[in-house]
Amino acid sequence: MQHRVLPVLVFIVTAVACATNPVTGKRELSLMSEEQEIQIGREQDAQVRKEMGVYSDEELQRYLSDIGVRLSRVSERPELPWHYTVVDSPAINAFALPGGYIYITRGIMPFLDNEAELAGVLGHETGHVTARHASQQYSRSTSAGLGLLLGSIFVPQARPFASLGESGLGVLMLKYGRDDEAQADALGVKYASIAGWDPAGVPAMLMTLGRIEEASDNKGVPNWLQTHPAAEDRVQRVQAAVRDAEKGADRFITDRDGYLKRITGLVYGDNPDQGVVRNGSFLHAGLRFAIKFPIGWDVNNGQTQVVAKQAGENALILLQEVQRPVGRTIQDIALRSMEGAGFRALDGGRTTINGLDAFIGTYQGSVQDFGRVTVRAAHIVHDRAIFLLAGIASQPIYERVEPAFTKSLNSFRPLTRGEAESIHPNRIDLYTAREGDTWQAIAEHQGKGVVKASTLAIMNGHPVNEQPRVGERLKIVVAG
Ligand SMILES: [Zn+2]
Repeated sequence: MQHRVLPVLVFIVTAVACATNPVTGKRELSLMSEEQEIQIGREQDAQVRKEMGVYSDEELQRYLSDIGVRLSRVSERPELPWHYTVVDSPAINAFALPGGYIYITRGIMPFLDNEAELAGVLGHETGHVTARHASQQYSRSTSAGLGLLLGSIFVPQARPFASLGESGLGVLMLKYGRDDEAQADALGVKYASIAGWDPAGVPAMLMTLGRIEEASDNKGVPNWLQTHPAAEDRVQRVQAAVRDAEKGADRFITDRDGYLKRITGLVYGDNPDQGVVRNGSFLHAGLRFAIKFPIGWDVNNGQTQVVAKQAGENALILLQEVQRPVGRTIQDIALRSMEGAGFRALDGGRTTINGLDAFIGTYQGSVQDFGRVTVRAAHIVHDRAIFLLAGIASQPIYERVEPAFTKSLNSFRPLTRGEAESIHPNRIDLYTAREGDTWQAIAEHQGKGVVKASTLAIMNGHPVNEQPRVGERLKIVVAG
């Protein structure tokens, strides 16, 4: 969560022209000239940098840029102003903007196993730009008035809380069609192999993304890792291109050791500046507050809000900053903002929560996917800002979850400077598997339980039911 609201950007692209697709050579209707592609990319790039943040590791940025530029040089559009950037997001994602702006999250890097897989991801995104998928989608989405949308290697299907606003980056991600994805996969294979990397990196990373998808589905909670439903299908479809590419050369770069060295020390999961979850508490070092969510609930820390959700139930707790509050008193602000969001107040009163001025009330309204809901909400004044902390439940279960809501609402407290400074992020480290090691044992002993055994397996390119080999060099996550 960050201290600002996502701006809604609307571009009106009026010029309609016919252009030749650089990849297929076919003439097609294009709503955008190359100059416009570059201009839109440049403008949106500024937004991405501002909203997501650039990961602060110059050496890693240079490494990524070097690989990207080598891929772009062998593409059909080497003259575009290519930029390759690692953004400071824990989400597992990669995306492209028109004009040659390519991003990967720091969150995807631990799940790539070698340089060839990284080149595969970058090649895939480069393909979305060279084949003009990014600009075509952009044209379509802007004509539909959707504002900022970014193409992505993942395609989130569900937007469980769309009516509550944007949670996480998922909602910013743009959906490409199956054929566009298959073409980008094939272009990824082509660029990576011509530039010298093992094209098998493309199906390998798709396989890993498929495993992440499977594992996240099993959790049964909404998340923003929900990928293209056919990751396995994509692996199959791209194999022929890989075999063709492999005929052309006898030696390819994979460089697992070099890649592992590059990502050692990488921040994993949430960054304290944007809020971290520790032992069921959500701690925000930047905004200096802490909250306890109910034990066992899944906490998702999005760009503009934090959502804790009880698995399998229509109950969640939402935290967000109230933007542009209207009203003189906290009561005024609370009632007006809830009313503005379509909620009717049943009761409410002025109070303090751990010394902070607050207004707690009960409201009714409706929420997409939940239907009619009852809401227990606290509006809290903290550090010259107003935070909304709301427990939202479908009406039949509200009575049952209300005590948990009240407990969380009353747990909001300011963090001291000392507490804020003592929060460190989790990081990637390396470990060599020993005789008898299992993912479970490594997760518990080396990683202090920061990530699950299945996550470690997937991160290291294994199916979740396959144990590490003795002597295998592994990526692990260590507590901050
Ligand atoms: Zn894609």
